[in-house]
Amino acid sequence: MAKTIQAIRGMNDCLPEVSGIWQQVEATLRQVVASYGYQEIRTPIVESTDLFKRSIGEVTDIVEKEMYTFEDRNGDSLTLRPEGTASCVRAGNEHGLLYNQQQRLWYMGPMFRHERPQKGRYRQFHQFGVETYGLEGPDIDVEVILLSARIWKAFGIANHVKLQINSLGSNEARQAYREALIAFLTSRADQLDEDSLRRMESNPLRVLDSKNPEVQAALADAPSLLDHLDDESKQHFSLLCERLTQAGIEYEINPRLVRGLDYYNRTVFEWVTESLGSQGTVCAGGRYDGLVEQLGGKATPAVGFAMGIERLVLLLTTLKADEQDTSSADIFVTALGDDAAVYALTVAEHIRDTLPAARVVMHCGGGNLKKQLKRADKTGAGVALLLGSEEAQQRQVTIKPLRDGQEQSTVALDALDSALMPLIG
Ligand code: ATP
Ligand code: MG
Repeated sequence: MAKTIQAIRGMNDCLPEVSGIWQQVEATLRQVVASYGYQEIRTPIVESTDLFKRSIGEVTDIVEKEMYTFEDRNGDSLTLRPEGTASCVRAGNEHGLLYNQQQRLWYMGPMFRHERPQKGRYRQFHQFGVETYGLEGPDIDVEVILLSARIWKAFGIANHVKLQINSLGSNEARQAYREALIAFLTSRADQLDEDSLRRMESNPLRVLDSKNPEVQAALADAPSLLDHLDDESKQHFSLLCERLTQAGIEYEINPRLVRGLDYYNRTVFEWVTESLGSQGTVCAGGRYDGLVEQLGGKATPAVGFAMGIERLVLLLTTLKADEQDTSSADIFVTALGDDAAVYALTVAEHIRDTLPAARVVMHCGGGNLKKQLKRADKTGAGVALLLGSEEAQQRQVTIKPLRDGQEQSTVALDALDSALMPLIG
């Protein structure tokens, strides 16, 4: 037998047993963003490597070690997108969507990072994100946080996620903080790991983002960014906090929240859950007022977030295992004999005309009724239609409810949709 070929490590197939949940998740996300007036943007999966180097930052996990970068046949360096924001800004600049305009955009699709695969962390994963441009906030910061909160509400998991916020201040304020932080880190150098020591020189704020628990412990008394904020950022942040409280959104201020990408300033936030082990951040975002200009556009304020769809799906399947519908059909059509098989096609097409939301599955391949009903049961259908030569001749349909012990009945084809409606919810 030929050797089988397997998927790339960390890149998952979405199999039929979970694709239904994915579709529901995607539909709900689309519905929520639409209710806030956001419009979809779709950008290519491959971009120039420079785009990500210039936006995410050279000294970040993503650019240092996670990007899928390759030369194409022209010798150009290309990268599979590791996140969506840079592409949005690139497209916005390229098509004149940003300057002097207000935009509320969203995207959804696969991202690629060469990380160590584990639960909630993959090499191809999917993000849903929103990006807004031309709005200085903090009202829009509140809006994107409210939008994310509504997503949890829509999925019924608001009690399982917590909001953490912080402010990174202006670039100048961060520069001042940087000095204070370097002094602190130098005094604790013996407790830092190799990565952190290297970053202490090149990008000390990144040390705060370390995933190493020993490093995190050494940071317990680190100076707080919030003590170094410039006045405008301080005011922005306190207004943000005030509005969140007024909107009934609970949050925790986490002065060590810096996010893993360089382009953020002022507001940063994460939604964290305790139900997924160490991959607990399901949504992360913030303000990035400098990025549009950094990528060649005119200075434009911006704020957005990205949500990991795999983590959201994991959370839903963990918390709501008992609510999942794994059925593939509502109505299963059986047929005994050649006449009935021809008639069954008419019946099935008739239902698809009259009840377009119903999932109608035809039995194929013949066999006795017992075998056909076994198939029906496997699909999870609530109703089987029994068609024999009698039904075919009389243009009738025998309806057999498969759940909760209701009686079977025979109706005329014309009356079928009204007879089925109460049975398929
Ligand atoms: P983490 O701290 O978990 O590595 P990050 O800071 O790298 O996350 P972002 O770049 O902000 O994450 O991406 C936003 C969201 O995308 C994360 O909060 C997470 O839900 C999801 N995400 C990021 N990387 C992965 C991955 N490799 N696999 C699955 N989901 C991911
Ligand atoms: Mg990461």
